[in-house]
Amino acid sequence: MANDSDNKSSKLHPSDALMKVPSFGPLEEADCSLCGSEACSPLVVQHWFAEDFVVVRCDSCGMIRTNPRPTSEWKTRFYDPAFNGLSEKMGREFIYAPEPDRLPSYRRLLRLIMSRVSPGSRLLDVGAASCVFTGMARDAGFDAVACDYSDDALAYGREHYQVPTIQSPAENIDTEDASFDVVTIFHTIEHLPDPLAVLKELHRILKPGGMIFIETPNYLPHSLIQTKFQFLWPIYKWLTKREHGLPWVPFDHYYHWTPRHIRKALQQVGFEEARPEHILGYRSNTKPNLVFWVAYVGYDCLAQLIHWFTLGRWDLRLVLLASGRKAS
Ligand SMILES: [Zn+2]
Repeated sequence: MANDSDNKSSKLHPSDALMKVPSFGPLEEADCSLCGSEACSPLVVQHWFAEDFVVVRCDSCGMIRTNPRPTSEWKTRFYDPAFNGLSEKMGREFIYAPEPDRLPSYRRLLRLIMSRVSPGSRLLDVGAASCVFTGMARDAGFDAVACDYSDDALAYGREHYQVPTIQSPAENIDTEDASFDVVTIFHTIEHLPDPLAVLKELHRILKPGGMIFIETPNYLPHSLIQTKFQFLWPIYKWLTKREHGLPWVPFDHYYHWTPRHIRKALQQVGFEEARPEHILGYRSNTKPNLVFWVAYVGYDCLAQLIHWFTLGRWDLRLVLLASGRKAS
């Protein structure tokens, strides 16, 4: 197991200084959501917010998860400005308020969806947070509804984007069976404690022939740099100036998806045509400087070539986009 050397001095980690309490609470052990297996092997340890988080690989199916992981009480305190100074440091109303530089990527994502689903269709944006994407989908002609467990986030969305909202946990959405033509779930599935249960729920609320679009970080490159290709770590560190290990985000991401596992999960709950998607240079506008931008786009082009030449076997693209269709 790799123990990120930069993290050994836990008291010096910047995230510790943001905490207004000594701990957000105890962590909990959890079995693999995909296969139900308890057995797992440690991959890396990272120190964040006064905890040594262990990222593990399932011995049975290979899915990567944080274990033990934050409880719902831990996460509640993590998101509460009374306990965590993160949102103050970021200068936002709440942690996931929209960043304007994400808008060009959302437009490209919307074009991808519109190439598969007719505008005018009923769209549910799950994990909508500030509802910025829901608002863009509505403006593009979709009958778009935002869903989130956070009423604060939805109140922001109603005020700023005037979209209809459903306040529900993603595992139990307050809507009838087969009531939407398309479901989007962007940068949410990695935060959920039981993603398979959520995918089953999204399958339930889709109409026959309806489509799901997922976006989440692709953790296959992280996994390879951590294990087989450790010589790449200094290059990555130089480019990103990242001092505290690869961005596993183990305090906030319960599951660390790879293309193989997202496809397997979609198929497991009954989706057909589960497949990876790609938008070349996607999210490149969010990069902090020209050197990083060139490296990012260059890497994305190289990863796309590797994907083509290996007939999809090696998918090292940084953003994991996937879609699936409910049987007609
Ligand atoms: Zn498993």
